[in-house]
Amino acid sequence: MTTAGDTYAVLVAEDDMGSRTATRLFLQRFGYRVGEAVDGPGTLREANLGHYDLVLLDLGLPGLDGEEVLSRLRRESPLPVIVLTGRSEERERIRVLDLGADDYLVKPCSLPELEARIRAVLRRGQPAPDTGRIEHSDLLIDRNAHRVQLHGAIVDLTPKEFDLLAFLAGSPDQVFTREELLEHVWGSTQDWQDPATVTEHVRRLRLKIEQDPAKPRWLHTVRGVGYRFVDIGTLDS
Ligand code: CA
Repeated sequence: MTTAGDTYAVLVAEDDMGSRTATRLFLQRFGYRVGEAVDGPGTLREANLGHYDLVLLDLGLPGLDGEEVLSRLRRESPLPVIVLTGRSEERERIRVLDLGADDYLVKPCSLPELEARIRAVLRRGQPAPDTGRIEHSDLLIDRNAHRVQLHGAIVDLTPKEFDLLAFLAGSPDQVFTREELLEHVWGSTQDWQDPATVTEHVRRLRLKIEQDPAKPRWLHTVRGVGYRFVDIGTLDS
């Protein structure tokens, strides 16, 4: 099965062996290829090899000031950079973003959140997905006609149910948090939309497209993270 990070390579620049290894193992579970660097000069060397899609940069690396590493990375490569730092002050955050970081996380941070941020940054660099037909086995989603067919029969969906299904099915196997789905499908953030809205829409979608909504074939819950669309292929049995 393909996973979220299937084609992406991430450089983990972190001098603490414990967090570096934990991060690498976690990302590899999601299908990312992972390289490691343990100091500032090594990070710049690795990043310039051109093997990577993103750098995860601990700001407290030995050998070179973290901000210096960041600004050189910015000058020398187009790679997106997510900064990890132990300092949470607002001015620090602003400084790092000003230096060109694509995102910023304060340590200790949760690995699922880190992976979600990596995915979000990588997605920003992607061309918009094709807006036409999405086909998964016997499920056909026609974005132009705003119509869903399952085993040849039209499924009656509300506009938001359609948008949610089309969004998830457009990136099969990728896990999205409810907050991300609110942002992408509802165009809003959790500040004024309740993530429970997503839960309710997934529930209703399952009633409409799943043979057994309690054991979904398409719309899977990833516990503690969110949802993903899975195409397991045509069911033979
Ligand atoms: Ca460090």
